[in-house]
Amino acid sequence: MTPKPDEWKPTIAIGEVGAWYREVDVVIVGLGCAGAAAAIDATRAGAEVLVLERASGGGGTSANSGGVIYLGGGTAIQKECGFEDSPEDMFRYLMAATGPAPDEEKIRVFSEYSVEHFQWFVDQGVPFKAVFYPHYSGEPPTDDGLVYSGSENAYPFDEIARPAPRGHVPQVPGQAGGLLMHKLMATVESSAAEIVTDARCARLILDRSGAVQGVVARLDGEWHAIRARRGVVLCAGGFVNNKEMLGRHAPQLLSCKYRVGTTFDDGCGIRLGMAAGGETINMSYGSISLPIIPPKKLQKGILVNAQGARFINEDAYYGRLGEYAVYRQDGRAYLILDAETFDRPDVEREIAGVGESVEELESELGLPQGSLQSTLALYNRHAERGADPVFHKSADYVVPLSHPPYGALDCTTAGSLYAVFTLGGLRTSVNGEVLSPLGEPVPGLYAAGRTTSGIAAPGYSSGLSIGDGTFFGRRAGLHAARRR
Ligand SMILES: Cc1cc2nc3c(=O)[nH]c(=O)nc-3n(C[C@H](O)[C@H](O)[C@H](O)COP(=O)(O)OP(=O)(O)OC[C@H]3O[C@@H](n4cnc5c(N)ncnc54)[C@H](O)[C@@H]3O)c2cc1C
Repeated sequence: MTPKPDEWKPTIAIGEVGAWYREVDVVIVGLGCAGAAAAIDATRAGAEVLVLERASGGGGTSANSGGVIYLGGGTAIQKECGFEDSPEDMFRYLMAATGPAPDEEKIRVFSEYSVEHFQWFVDQGVPFKAVFYPHYSGEPPTDDGLVYSGSENAYPFDEIARPAPRGHVPQVPGQAGGLLMHKLMATVESSAAEIVTDARCARLILDRSGAVQGVVARLDGEWHAIRARRGVVLCAGGFVNNKEMLGRHAPQLLSCKYRVGTTFDDGCGIRLGMAAGGETINMSYGSISLPIIPPKKLQKGILVNAQGARFINEDAYYGRLGEYAVYRQDGRAYLILDAETFDRPDVEREIAGVGESVEELESELGLPQGSLQSTLALYNRHAERGADPVFHKSADYVVPLSHPPYGALDCTTAGSLYAVFTLGGLRTSVNGEVLSPLGEPVPGLYAAGRTTSGIAAPGYSSGLSIGDGTFFGRRAGLHAARRR
């Protein structure tokens, strides 16, 4: 079957399929972390699995990532590093951090089975070194295996749940996504699953009842219909590299200069799912990084907006800082420092202004007259006794900013690099079923990873994307394999 490009529609009726090129139990579209997890667990459940990957090799964005995996509840690594954690604390943190409408059912099951999910990675040969990296949240430069990867130990979360580091990092210095995907793909390759690369899936095949019966994909330059007897699992990534979709669904992300993903994060999987009747949710949300550290000393500065006012505790996780700056402050933010707190940040950041006095800095930044002066006067008044009653930054980082000259680092979206990827996507059940706007499963259709709206939308903590992508990828693969 060879549909011409101008005839491409995201769905096709089964009656239009002349002959099946292949028939398998489960077709998985995309071989990133979610697709690999789905393939591993579907194959183990006894299904005949075909993985279609559009690129010339698997890995996707997952292979280019930091490889941090959000896991907790008392994993072996947490215990060996001397941290106590429980599924309940993990649940409470995620419920608070991923508001305003957290997916309680998903967060419950993700927290409850997280220790088992950690063991699953170990079983696939992913190595973890039981050493805690204490210096800052996010990907460590070392091969240490455990980091804080969210705002667990910052206000208000430190009062909601017992803080514990939950960023689990495969043992390799620096970016660990390559090692992670190498191990997961090795498991898929050594299993009974078949992987076909340079295979772009472009349509879903529907029967008269609306059930998904297969896909149309381009293999060896030809379009073919492939039957999926039990289910199709969409794991084709997000839509950060589709400007048109971003403009429609998440226009604020367009102001961020560094869009994190491969060219195939073009929303194809989401659009296929929508065309088959799936609902999308949280489409405007993204993971938005605004790192102000390292060095940690910079957390002693204050972030202010275009009105010269503070808007967050600066010791929060850089993803929370980014979300607040972009969604609530329109991407206008400056980190204000004095002579004692100033340092060169590791992330390249321009100096937006300097002044011998606060008034001079305020004027150089174009802030309303008196605004920064009153913000600093209030901050310094409480900082004299190490307190921050307004935003509750930890006392470790609260010092009066009173030593001239003063400086401001540019944290605007226009003048600095904000890294983003999308978090919204298809609405799925805890078993990976794609749900219609009525909340009913689209028969035969499953999805996982950034093709779906995961746990963190909004309210990202590092590791949640690979964490929920693999966790719900496994469940999607398993449930597709068991469907009759
Ligand atoms: C620099 C960087 C650092 C990051 N660090 C972290 C981190 O530390 N922790 C974390 O959790 N997240 C991190 N992320 C985000 C995370 O990597 C991704 O959100 C996650 O890996 C997405 O996984 P996925 O399986 O949904 O998609 P992907 O890994 O992108 O896989 C999707 C696959 O589908 C294929 N595909 C697309 N369309 C089709 C089609 N039509 N037919 C067939 N195949 C198709 C693609 O080629 C791709 O291989 C980071 C991202 C980057 C770039």
